[in-house]
Amino acid sequence: MGLSGLDIYKQLPKKNCGECGPPTCLAFAMSLAAGKASLDACPYVSDTARDNLASASAPPIKLVTVGSGPAAIQLGDETVLYRHDKTFVHPTGIFVEIRDDMDDAALDARLDQLAAMVFERVGQQYHLSGLAVRYVMGDPGRFAEVAVRAHGKFQRALILGGCGPGLEQALEKALETLAAAKPLLYAATVENHEGMTALAKKHACPLVVRGESLDATAELAQKVSASHKELVLDTGARQPSRTIADQTHIRRLAIKKKFRPLGYPTIAFTTSEDPGDEIVEATALVAKYTSVVVLKAHKVTQLLPLLSWRQNIYTDPQKPIQVQSQLYEVGQVTADSPVYVTTNFSLTYFSVEGEVQASKIPGYIIAVDTDGTSVLTAWAAGKLTSEAIAKMLGETGIESKVTHRKVVLPGHVAVLSGKLQELSGWQVLVGPREAAGIPSFAKSKFA
Ligand code: SF4
Repeated sequence: MGLSGLDIYKQLPKKNCGECGPPTCLAFAMSLAAGKASLDACPYVSDTARDNLASASAPPIKLVTVGSGPAAIQLGDETVLYRHDKTFVHPTGIFVEIRDDMDDAALDARLDQLAAMVFERVGQQYHLSGLAVRYVMGDPGRFAEVAVRAHGKFQRALILGGCGPGLEQALEKALETLAAAKPLLYAATVENHEGMTALAKKHACPLVVRGESLDATAELAQKVSASHKELVLDTGARQPSRTIADQTHIRRLAIKKKFRPLGYPTIAFTTSEDPGDEIVEATALVAKYTSVVVLKAHKVTQLLPLLSWRQNIYTDPQKPIQVQSQLYEVGQVTADSPVYVTTNFSLTYFSVEGEVQASKIPGYIIAVDTDGTSVLTAWAAGKLTSEAIAKMLGETGIESKVTHRKVVLPGHVAVLSGKLQELSGWQVLVGPREAAGIPSFAKSKFA
């Protein structure tokens, strides 16, 4: 959401000296508005004008980083209300709570279980974003011990905090070891915000601001932001309907009204003890703009659909996920293995790959470059053609890997068979229309 040239011009010195490049301040303002110049090119711009321009042209939701190195995740910097307007940029951080009242054996077992939760879907790796270590026992030493142990075993982003007496001492103690990991500190409230802000500033860590309502959160965020700007908002809502309403209001006010006190990423906590209900709650929070969701996740397998859901929401609808257009081997292929053709759209490719695996007959898959579109879409757009398939049969080296000359075409594009056979010299077998038909097709033709 940039400023207009006129808005920028009002802040410039109006000397028209031309030292910035363009001959006049107005021309320079127009270049700035178009993103073709930097404000630094004017040596006479005042500090006040610089601050005004910087804050007015800042993104509507601030970008905040939690964690450091490969474990770091970025939050915020979103510019649209609806995914179809453009895209959502920084996926919701999915965190699981660890409490400092767990004994060491239970803690280690839980950490191992969470660390092992890594899996792949359509070529992308899923895992948790990090852990939220909760201060509940009122013992700063034990809290620091648990936080350090959690970070040692689970090297991802951290949220540290809770509430109650001794919170700042507990965080200070944990930060003696973990400051470089840049955890998100939880939370600055009306009562403790001065101490918590000083702590976050001292260790350059992001900080959650928690109010008791939307208005109170905005007021507190404005106060805290005067000295620390790496903020994440918690409106204090602990009822799903209210939490979702707050998340929606924050996003609308930040983007549509450019309401700065709410222009920060957000955090929310699930409330349900039932694993199924908890995931439903979390999926609604992911869909409705929450930057960080913290779950109890009593049953970790329930997290898989949530991570899958997050991937779907945060995939750019204008850029389909693609695999490399090349020859793939599935299983222990031999010179007799079948050769399948499909497109390089990830969902299509991995559906075919999964079914070839399920057939238990190893095979080759040629993924034709169709700009990441599925079989019928690619055919209709002239991207999956006999020529393109024949070219890949020649270029991928498949001719030297198999002794037969049979290629399986997706059933939906049977119409390409004649020309493909003519161009390539390969016998074309028309395969099933849907990938799910591959196992029975393979058994009938290649077993
Ligand atoms: Fe105006 Fe500054 Fe450019 Fe001079 S250098 S023309 S004062 S914007």
